[in-house]
Amino acid sequence: MLVLIANLGSTSFKYRLFDMQAGDGRVLAQGGFERVTDHGETIEAALAELESSGVIASRKDIDAVGFKTVLGRNLSGCVEAGQEVLDALDGFAAVAPAHNPPYAAGIRQFSRLLPEARLVALFETAFYQWVPEAASRYAVPRTWHEAGIRRYGFHGASHKFIAERSAELLGREDVAEVVRSLYQKGPQAVGTPLRVISCHLGGSSSVTGIRNGVAIGTSMGFSPQSGLPQNNRVGDLDSGAIPYAMKALGLELPEIERQLTKESGLLGLSGVSNDIRDVNEAAAQGNPDARIALDVLVHEIRRWASSFLFDLGGLDALTFTAGIGENGAPIREAVCKGLEGFGLKLDPEKNAACRATEAEISAADSTVKVFVIPANEELVLAREVFRKLS
Ligand code: ADP
Repeated sequence: MLVLIANLGSTSFKYRLFDMQAGDGRVLAQGGFERVTDHGETIEAALAELESSGVIASRKDIDAVGFKTVLGRNLSGCVEAGQEVLDALDGFAAVAPAHNPPYAAGIRQFSRLLPEARLVALFETAFYQWVPEAASRYAVPRTWHEAGIRRYGFHGASHKFIAERSAELLGREDVAEVVRSLYQKGPQAVGTPLRVISCHLGGSSSVTGIRNGVAIGTSMGFSPQSGLPQNNRVGDLDSGAIPYAMKALGLELPEIERQLTKESGLLGLSGVSNDIRDVNEAAAQGNPDARIALDVLVHEIRRWASSFLFDLGGLDALTFTAGIGENGAPIREAVCKGLEGFGLKLDPEKNAACRATEAEISAADSTVKVFVIPANEELVLAREVFRKLS
């Protein structure tokens, strides 16, 4: 089965073509376009590129196209990307303005250009379908809840991959199998409980609690704007701060939104950069704002992780993934500091040596395993598309 994964940004288009023979996935080709103004033209150019390079004889060889859609109104899961998905994306375009419109445009375009291919959308919210209601409700008036204002959670593909891979690393094939078939069969009973906390730390970040392969809660809520401080987005903020800032700073709502999405997070705190490498460097040179930016990030990761520790009633593994999680040894060390009483002990050498490779970085006598697991969201998506259609 040839599966094309389409990654549609507001001004970019990236693709990766997988041969999913055994369901495991081999990359046949990849490419991308920046400064895209017309996704239709760009998708046509990508298909022509695949044909002319000889990777495929004809675009008809592509069996399926997968889309990592973000947030749908009244719709989640891993579903065939038809009119229902388009309506769901359109319905929440205002909540995810950088993500939903390009995906809707891309799905329409692919259905025109590849009429015989199966189109599959995997919503980033899909992994949170089974989160208990108490962990997904906001204490807002009923009319707000009915308008769809609740916790959805994001980075679902990434955290689901961690659920599967961490179970494999812990020798828990029963749980790994539950995760693999989750979107087809739903949660299943397993032997002994397995409790994992997954830290996806990248340009945007989230922490998710996972029991027996199923998410029990996550740090991101209604929009990808919430939870941990992001590279330049604010993360969690007291709702009272917005009306106060409007009055005290004389700001209109669009400007507030701009500042909270573009000038906050690591950038806002540090005043240096939205890239943690620059923030690290400035902190090492003694910049106190850069130092506090890193400290706030660590504090928030620990705050969310500790909340899942309570919900899970203990922990078998803590995992790190994505750009910062895979490369940021000092952040990992700070997150794990002082947790020996919970049975979690890092091996400092293994931690320092681990960069963007899969590794166990806990000490030999740590009862909680700590893993670094590289993210590969395109592969995750290709696997889900394969499972959906197999
Ligand atoms: P996105 O969420 O945009 O997919 P990534 O998962 O690629 O992002 O993560 C991007 C983040 O990873 C950036 O903040 C970047 O600074 C950080 N990062 C990349 N390489 C390193 C590194 N060697 N050390 C620390 N952080 C890194």
